[in-house]
Amino acid sequence: MSELLDRYAEVAGRDVVNHLYQLVAPLKGMKVVHVNSTKEGGGVAEILRKLVPMMEALGLDVKWEVLEGSPDFYQCTKGFHNAIQGFPVKLSEAMLEAYETVNAENAEKLRPVLEEADFVFIHDPQPAPFLNFCPNRRGKWVWRCHIDCSRPYRPVWKYLKNWIQDYDASIFSLAQFAQFLPHPQYLIAPSIDPLSEKNIDLPEDEIRGVFDQFGLKPDLPFILQVSRFDRFKDPLGVIEAFRQARKMVPLQLVLAGGGATDDPEGEKVLEEVRKAAEDNEDVHVLLLPPDAHRTINALQRASDIVLQKSLKEGFGLTVTEAMWKGKPVIGGDTGGIRLQVIDHFTGFTVRSPEGAALRIRYLLHRMDRLEEMGARARRLVLENFLLTRHLREYLALMIGLLHGLEDRIDMVQ
Ligand code: UDP
Repeated sequence: MSELLDRYAEVAGRDVVNHLYQLVAPLKGMKVVHVNSTKEGGGVAEILRKLVPMMEALGLDVKWEVLEGSPDFYQCTKGFHNAIQGFPVKLSEAMLEAYETVNAENAEKLRPVLEEADFVFIHDPQPAPFLNFCPNRRGKWVWRCHIDCSRPYRPVWKYLKNWIQDYDASIFSLAQFAQFLPHPQYLIAPSIDPLSEKNIDLPEDEIRGVFDQFGLKPDLPFILQVSRFDRFKDPLGVIEAFRQARKMVPLQLVLAGGGATDDPEGEKVLEEVRKAAEDNEDVHVLLLPPDAHRTINALQRASDIVLQKSLKEGFGLTVTEAMWKGKPVIGGDTGGIRLQVIDHFTGFTVRSPEGAALRIRYLLHRMDRLEEMGARARRLVLENFLLTRHLREYLALMIGLLHGLEDRIDMVQ
């Protein structure tokens, strides 16, 4: 057993890790390629940073490739992102051309690697056309959608579907996101890595250190939202919820975020957030570097309540991270948040700043309920949203794709 996997056995249980070994046996040595559009920032990079080394530790030959785009390209793919989440977006011919050209150029560079792979996982719409530029591919190609596409803006989805329909399969995080596609669709929820800097236990003085580091008041309850500065994360709604809650309970708010290299709208949203926060010394807007994982970990642990008031959310790793730290989450009643925040049980789902303010006040008045919900939240993550479960489902999917409808698969060789 690899040393890395041994460590997971301590957290998730020996059986869970043994099961992974059993599943990977018929896949050993196979070539797997993941492609996405950024090495840092956002949930996809966060997942791949952990999933790739774990697959390697299990004996797969794994590569993680990142597509390189132009500003026009990222403008276009941000448009796709917004459109998939239901926003009506108009994309010009020139933008679509930039999208297709960047894909053709990147796919050409990576073609030898892609065409000889046994499995290629293409994450999100940015590199979706790769498949069409690899006519001699020999492996199974899977499109993995991380976005909330419960109600995509149809004209844009119709365009994207042309690039996606020839894949061997696609993966969505929730049943509500599935689409009409002429291939099998799998449901796999994302996960967090309990051993990463973002999620490991921290010494108490490091946790308390964030109060000094960011000028927070040590005796004032604090609520936190960690997110890219993106309108769908509703940072302005969070500030409004804070303002309303604060009329009844003393409180401070931290909005912590950073940019993703493939997100061109972040700066504008950050500016709006700073403006909305400027007249209140108890609202702290933190722009963190992409590798501030330990700082985010400490902030999540130091907070009393975590918010993720998204209006649309593919999954919401920030929710999982907070729950793992025993925090109840007040989350937008949408997408992947619903999978994690079980209303009144592991937190509250809300539909407005007023709703969020009401729940903040309730939890701060009922510390017993706050702690109870936090403990349940951690347990829910332990049982459902750790990397080991995620990996198991990937391996099962790969075996399923290789063996199709065969009625018997010999797992141990
Ligand atoms: N994150 C981070 N720094 C930031 C903002 C977010 O490291 O400034 C991380 C966050 O901890 C989480 C991921 O990026 O692991 C965001 O994933 P999520 O699914 O919540 O949202 P996405 O950005 O993919 O929409």
